[in-house]
Amino acid sequence: MRPRIGHPGPVEDEHDVVVVGAGVAGLYALHLLRRRGLRVTCVDVAPELGGVWHHQRFPGARIDTEGPAYQYLFSEELYRDWGWSERFPAGYEVLRWLRFVADRLGLHRDLRLSTPVTGARWDGGRWRVRTGHGILSARFLLRCTGAFTAPRTDPVPGRSDFAGPVVHTGAWPARGPGLDGLRVGVLGCGPSAVQLVPALVGRVGRLTVLARTPRYVLPAANPMYGWPERAAYRDRLPAMREAVRTTPSGTGHSFVHKGLHSLGSAYDGDPLALHPARLPGLAADPELRAAVGAVVRDRMRARLADGRLAAALVPDGDDYGLRPVATDQGWLESFHRDDVEVVPVGRNPVVRIRRDGVELADGTVVGLDAMVLATGFDPSATRAGIEVVGRGGRPLGTGAGLLGMVHPGFPNLFTPLAPTLGYGNDAACLQAQVEWVDRAVGDLDADGLSTIEAVTAPAEPVPPYAVPGGVAGVARACDDEAAAGYPSFERR
Ligand SMILES: Cc1cc2nc3c(=O)[nH]c(=O)nc-3n(C[C@H](O)[C@H](O)[C@H](O)COP(=O)(O)OP(=O)(O)OC[C@H]3O[C@@H](n4cnc5c(N)ncnc54)[C@H](O)[C@@H]3O)c2cc1C
Repeated sequence: MRPRIGHPGPVEDEHDVVVVGAGVAGLYALHLLRRRGLRVTCVDVAPELGGVWHHQRFPGARIDTEGPAYQYLFSEELYRDWGWSERFPAGYEVLRWLRFVADRLGLHRDLRLSTPVTGARWDGGRWRVRTGHGILSARFLLRCTGAFTAPRTDPVPGRSDFAGPVVHTGAWPARGPGLDGLRVGVLGCGPSAVQLVPALVGRVGRLTVLARTPRYVLPAANPMYGWPERAAYRDRLPAMREAVRTTPSGTGHSFVHKGLHSLGSAYDGDPLALHPARLPGLAADPELRAAVGAVVRDRMRARLADGRLAAALVPDGDDYGLRPVATDQGWLESFHRDDVEVVPVGRNPVVRIRRDGVELADGTVVGLDAMVLATGFDPSATRAGIEVVGRGGRPLGTGAGLLGMVHPGFPNLFTPLAPTLGYGNDAACLQAQVEWVDRAVGDLDADGLSTIEAVTAPAEPVPPYAVPGGVAGVARACDDEAAAGYPSFERR
């Protein structure tokens, strides 16, 4: 801390850049901006780096982007020196990779962990950032707080009445809640439940999934990676860089179908070919959506032993691709075990959590010893508990902003949040956004200017149409804006 003599307010700590959030985006921002010679500090409320991979340690958590495409691609050395153990690595392996990156790049010395940020105010020339441990001041502020800041922890009343442990997938304790041998209820059947359930079966005494809205799922083969597989992807870095920045999925995978009649055989060749991220234009094409949805439903039913399970676990709407589609490794087959059951709660909802379990609308009580809330996050809670006040005392709203991160009235503020969330490679999208911030800051300094601010805010996008061109679209928009001299911005 450098106390400012004679300053009347709280002690301030001065920086060029404050980054909030030590996940994939924040760590990259710390590295790039520090490399420019700027004084950067990265603050996180968590006691360790890693972002979601620190917070979401539930069994089965993993990425469904192939590991190499999720990596930072700016450094050949960093890329080649890390080796994934499987195609779709588990969350703990992603966390280990981020620790490796931080060690290699010497990021620890500029991390302030266990430090919540509660507010930030533009005072006309600098950002004043309020943290749990004092005020930081900086020319530039990056809010890299991700999309999973507000777990829905009270989906139904009565949580505090429950006698056993209750844990949310988004705030899973490092040592786990100890579920072995217990009757465990999982509330929800979205992407987290799809990953969690196959990892819990056989460990817990009995597993009951309370399923409201069934999800489309695509089975994903997840082979182990040994030396030959690692060598193969390590040699492809230039191609990988090109692939992630030029495909909507941000993975290099893209699928052009040969007519609606061919979708079934496409699925049978590789179910992931029908993933929404790989089918450009799917969201805007109801006929294609209906046809793909029918194929996926059909294949899901074929994996299930009976019509009762199919009724509970296979979606019936024509909304394929309008919500994230989960990839699974044994989700549906888990329900064939005697110690796993699904209770459909769409029409007969959970109304109350009791001491001994949950009560449904028809009075049925499902007895439980422990409960896992796989109930997702509040998607509108992008503020991350940080009250941001810009020019003229204006509060920052929840909109995504220009390029998914810059807002009129908020000079030198950047809030990178992959607008591709759930539809592609967010890590690649975040890298493109952070690289743009780094370039914009460098160009500003090179031109002897001090502030950059968006002139207009785009109309509020409606997911999943929010990402025209997906990851490639975001990367292109960033490149074009910088190359054209920042026409959508005022620089002073
Ligand atoms: C189970 C799971 C699977 C996923 N699979 C994929 C995938 O296959 N491919 C993909 O691309 N993406 C995937 N994602 C999305 C993932 O969120 C992104 O890839 C990426 O990790 C987001 O990084 P981030 O830096 O934007 O934010 P985060 O990793 O969310 O980090 C934000 C950080 O901000 C901190 N923070 C928040 N509020 C405050 C505050 N007020 N003060 C201080 N610190 C604060 C948090 O503690 C956190 O550490 C997955 C996510 C989950 C949970």
